[in-house]
Amino acid sequence: MGRIRITGLFLALMLLLGGCVRTEPETRQFFAMDTIMNFTAYGAQAEEALAQAEDYIVNLEKHISVTRQNSDIAMLSRVSGDPVQVSEDTFALLTQALELCAATGGALDITAYPAVKAWGFTTGEYRVPDQGERNELVKLIDYTAVEMNEDSRGVTLPKGMAVDLGAVAKGWAGQRLHDLLVSQGVESAMLVLGGNVQTVGTKPDGSPWRVGIQDPDSETGAYLASVSVADQAVVTSGGYQRFFEENGETYWHIIDPDTAAPARSGVTSATIVGSDGGVCDGLSTALFILGAEESAALWRSGTLEFDYILVLEDGSIHITQGLENTFALMNGYQDRKVTVIAP
Ligand code: AMP
Ligand code: MG
Repeated sequence: MGRIRITGLFLALMLLLGGCVRTEPETRQFFAMDTIMNFTAYGAQAEEALAQAEDYIVNLEKHISVTRQNSDIAMLSRVSGDPVQVSEDTFALLTQALELCAATGGALDITAYPAVKAWGFTTGEYRVPDQGERNELVKLIDYTAVEMNEDSRGVTLPKGMAVDLGAVAKGWAGQRLHDLLVSQGVESAMLVLGGNVQTVGTKPDGSPWRVGIQDPDSETGAYLASVSVADQAVVTSGGYQRFFEENGETYWHIIDPDTAAPARSGVTSATIVGSDGGVCDGLSTALFILGAEESAALWRSGTLEFDYILVLEDGSIHITQGLENTFALMNGYQDRKVTVIAP
């Protein structure tokens, strides 16, 4: 009798534990690409897939980091004038980045790097270049001058110019990781690469992932809204993410290629929701620069498939129609004016 009872109890316990094991997340946190990466995945394949995901990021960074001496991207600037043979990943990433530069009319411009550097955003030694210097910097920004040779994977950059993939790399990488996890059989994961969130499938219980949108004006990083997604990326760009202050002015890291100075479009944060992480990342930076009207025009043009959430200087919010049922204001933000942008 006693033995049967114990066995029964043991069985119940095993079932309970078994149930837990299936929904227990596998997580990884590490620092790469200048930010904290936080990966969560579910299911039997999760552990192995996340190990591969981390390896992939560590390896990718060696090729695309703008500050690593021998990366493809550092070589491009150093050897400017002659072709540099780059890795397959670098070539693919550059190709998508250049397409997005064109699609945004040059608001996104991966050759903005000399300006990013002149303002001190790469080193943290911040300074405000004078008008004369800015005029010279503007001349160095022109993504159409980047030459790509598909056969040799050779990339050529004119002398004096430099490339930085900081505006697109994390989103592009998130999308590659999404594809990697899916190919490994993972059906549920959330990958956070700094301000880039890439989801795989839904939550294990089948409900969508809820991703928080930060209040760009909050000093404590409060969330002002959330958006529910499945198998999509949610990417935010904002002046609050990296900035310095001098003589009462705030200067941030997103540069308007037309002025070589921090973009001032009236947008304080731009969030893109879409099915391609690379597109979302490139557009988050671009829409921050373009401002509300030009962002709506780009969305309406239908050249690219995405939805967006813009927070404006006066605190009001613009969302595109595709998010009408999945966007929600947080408690404490219910009185914000939300305008739905229609096609
Ligand atoms: P994100 O956080 O995706 O908006 O990217 C911002 C980063 O992209 C900056 O830290 C710069 O390294 C780089 N960047 C700044 N302005 C531009 C621009 N107009 N086009 C492309 N990259 C830029
Ligand atoms: Mg971006």
